[in-house]
Amino acid sequence: MRNTARQTRENRTITIDFHDETTYFRLLDDGKAFVELVMAFILSLGFQLKHKATCRGDGCLTRHSHYVRVRLGGFTIWRIQCTRCKAVFTVLPHFVLRYRQMRPEVARDALLATHGGLSLELCAVISHLSPMALYRLVCAFGHQSLVAVLTRCALPLPTYVLADEKHSRCLTAKVYLPTIVRGRVIWHLGYTEDASAAAFAQSYGEFQRTASQQEPSYRVKGVLTDGFDSTTKNLRTLFPGVRVGTCLRHALLKLPTKLAAVASPVRKALRSQFHTLLYRARQRKGLRVFALGQQLRHFANHVATMAGTANGARVRRWFQEKKVGWYAVLEDPQMPVTSTFLDQAHNAIDRKLFMMKAFHHPHGSQRAFLTGLAHLYNLVPYQRRAQHAGQCGVEVDGGRLPTADWFLNLQILTSGGFR
Ligand SMILES: [Zn+2]
Repeated sequence: MRNTARQTRENRTITIDFHDETTYFRLLDDGKAFVELVMAFILSLGFQLKHKATCRGDGCLTRHSHYVRVRLGGFTIWRIQCTRCKAVFTVLPHFVLRYRQMRPEVARDALLATHGGLSLELCAVISHLSPMALYRLVCAFGHQSLVAVLTRCALPLPTYVLADEKHSRCLTAKVYLPTIVRGRVIWHLGYTEDASAAAFAQSYGEFQRTASQQEPSYRVKGVLTDGFDSTTKNLRTLFPGVRVGTCLRHALLKLPTKLAAVASPVRKALRSQFHTLLYRARQRKGLRVFALGQQLRHFANHVATMAGTANGARVRRWFQEKKVGWYAVLEDPQMPVTSTFLDQAHNAIDRKLFMMKAFHHPHGSQRAFLTGLAHLYNLVPYQRRAQHAGQCGVEVDGGRLPTADWFLNLQILTSGGFR
């Protein structure tokens, strides 16, 4: 009988920057210097190795064994071992990708083209690799969670977030991407074919669980969302005591749709008055919530006068539904006011999802693929003429990166051997 409890081996691979290949090959013959360089590099990052649960990591590291990567022209890869807990770490030099034959410079170009919006097929054409190899590469990076990678960049777990489900399509199937964004960084990107509240709750719950593992006292204080009522309820259950607000910018965009059979100048005038109302409410601190309630009532009456009682009544009902969400935004100065950054992230990811359509099959790893894309979204620097040119989302949000090279950062941060 086979032993059914197959033990899954922990991924303790670490990527180390040896600066150039000659340094690496020189150190292969000098065990002591090799281990010293590895230790110095890890220390410079401020990272710790993932020892076994019982080990405090204060033992010595020694060179343990090596193997030869035949597919890469047969050069040597070393493993190092903790003398105390016997955990074994595979040391990958920066110019080698885990389990992959592909050279990093090829992977880098292909991923950059993917991130830029080129289809997997075309990325593969310009980089001379198969589309499937590129798909698998993105998935490989996506096995490490967003929370793990972002906290390695010293970003604090977000207390105020944007959360919403992007409705998208894969081939003909409708799919949903429950997403959590804070500033310019994606903290969670889920995937579900089921539009039910339970499916969304499960997806957001994954983020909550991973974050709580990092920091047991972690608590979300505020969420801005434009999701369904069911989403709002879910968020309250998942994050007890959370303040749930509604985007003020969306409110502004939505008003004209509440005004039926109204001449265009009147509609424009009402929209601009509503804009002024919300803007002033944000400016006035302290009494602004009380002031908003009163002003919304006045505004609904004003609509009735200008555009007829039917429109006035519709706007009043809409205010009734939404005002709690707007109050929530105005009551807490730390609450995000608009969900613009979430929309940007969704649009960027949606383009990638569209181009992956040929890879959408029941056994595909959509979740790993999306997480991989989210890593790229967070770590690839903005282009030359962008507002934050040369910086990536993590940097703009105040995170710290291991090196100045985004691709090396991606390799290091998604390594399995760091804690
Ligand atoms: Zn140990």
